[in-house]
Amino acid sequence: MTNRRQFLAGSIAAPFLMSVRARAQSSAEIDVAIIGAGAAGLHAAHRARAQGLTARIFEARHRVGGRVYTNTTLGSSFEAGAFYIHWSESNPWTEIAKNLGVAAVDDSNLWGGFNVFADGRPLSPEERSRRRGGFWRLSSVLDNEASHVDMSFGEAARRLNPDVPEAASGMTLLNLGEDADRVSIRDYQRLNAGDDLVVPTGYGKLLELYAQGLDISLETPVTAVDFSGSGVVLETARGTVRARTAIITVPVNVLKSGSIRFTPALPARTLSALDGLGMGALTKLALKFEGTKFGQSNWTQFFDTGSKGDLVNFEFWPFGNDLVVAHFGGDYARGVAASGEAAAVDHMLGKLVAILGADARKFFRSGKLAGWSAEPASLGGYSIAKPGQMAARDALAEPVANRLWFAGEASAGSGSMTAGGAALSGARAIEMIRKVL
Ligand SMILES: Cc1cc2nc3c(=O)[nH]c(=O)nc-3n(C[C@H](O)[C@H](O)[C@H](O)COP(=O)(O)OP(=O)(O)OC[C@H]3O[C@@H](n4cnc5c(N)ncnc54)[C@H](O)[C@@H]3O)c2cc1C
Repeated sequence: MTNRRQFLAGSIAAPFLMSVRARAQSSAEIDVAIIGAGAAGLHAAHRARAQGLTARIFEARHRVGGRVYTNTTLGSSFEAGAFYIHWSESNPWTEIAKNLGVAAVDDSNLWGGFNVFADGRPLSPEERSRRRGGFWRLSSVLDNEASHVDMSFGEAARRLNPDVPEAASGMTLLNLGEDADRVSIRDYQRLNAGDDLVVPTGYGKLLELYAQGLDISLETPVTAVDFSGSGVVLETARGTVRARTAIITVPVNVLKSGSIRFTPALPARTLSALDGLGMGALTKLALKFEGTKFGQSNWTQFFDTGSKGDLVNFEFWPFGNDLVVAHFGGDYARGVAASGEAAAVDHMLGKLVAILGADARKFFRSGKLAGWSAEPASLGGYSIAKPGQMAARDALAEPVANRLWFAGEASAGSGSMTAGGAALSGARAIEMIRKVL
């Protein structure tokens, strides 16, 4: 995700790193059961420990980090999910990186030029200037004029100028992973702003390091949460767990899918908060090349405006490695992710061939899809509030029966959509739990 105000400016966890519990859980009582080992869950577990509470994380995947994941399967690494430490001045990951001795650096040097294409054809200077003008007009209005009506981002853009909707869809598809008509303008406008940092050794690797020493059960999906008694009983793939309270950090679409059954049913307030939220489908796909750099410097961007909303931004050689990383979103990305990795890689390579010529195929070696919308543990990129639903995030963050807390990026208010907001939401849940235990 790029800085929201700057369009396009922007391994698997080693299991020995943490105490992984592969045995069946029994009736051992813990203060806080945390569902999900992403940014929210890991930070909540650390905060719980600092408060003297016992906490254990139950994680469906075989790795920690959730949507912050440094993927190394192509031999070179790329950030399959989060890349930027946004609003780094107040983002807890800045401090965590510092404490762990992990460098986090200013992103302003990560810029190798920007080229715009339409289905492989370079745009004329006039077309580029029209697009750029539309973008800057929209960007400036969004920065300077708060919308008082919670309409869709697309509607707000249409009211501004006929040129602007094109810029609006570019902004939301590639920054939020969703169509501009499905996103609340007021929710967007309340998001935190600030300077970005990046972690050259990997944002996902930072989370792996942070997970060390925590009590985490990997490959342990939670299938049911019963809070009808005085505590909480979790059904997991490895048995039943009893806890005094639970923090649920799974992504919104996972909650909506019903893969975790709640007893009794969640209150109407929580259900309607979930109705007001959705998830964009920001997707990345890395293509590995050997033997050439196609004359492109590190961090060069090729933005292909495609047709029918199939916008793709190709980022060349991040950190000087041998990968081109495609970023794309919306229904187009959902379709590409659903087609499976082989078809998705072939499709994206075809787009690059249209720009670079047949050499792109000749030097291509392998590809990797980070199709979050097709993965059962995420079912999307990150949350969006639907038009008119900017209050949904705060409603989701309300405790249920003083035993269940929903945390994670979707409930993080002005920090939502980010790993920083997710961590803060985990800390907030622990603060509230400490008051009731
Ligand atoms: C392509 C992309 C780019 C992004 N770019 C940025 C960026 O540059 N900067 C930024 O700050 N943010 C970015 N984000 C958003 C950021 O990654 C998320 O906001 C953040 O990681 C969410 O953390 P979380 O803890 O709320 O959720 P998650 O990281 O999703 O953690 C939830 C965990 O719950 C687990 N889980 C799911 N179901 C179950 C179950 N039934 N039982 C047990 N465990 C379960 C999941 O496996 C997961 O590990 C990006 C996201 C994507 C997809």
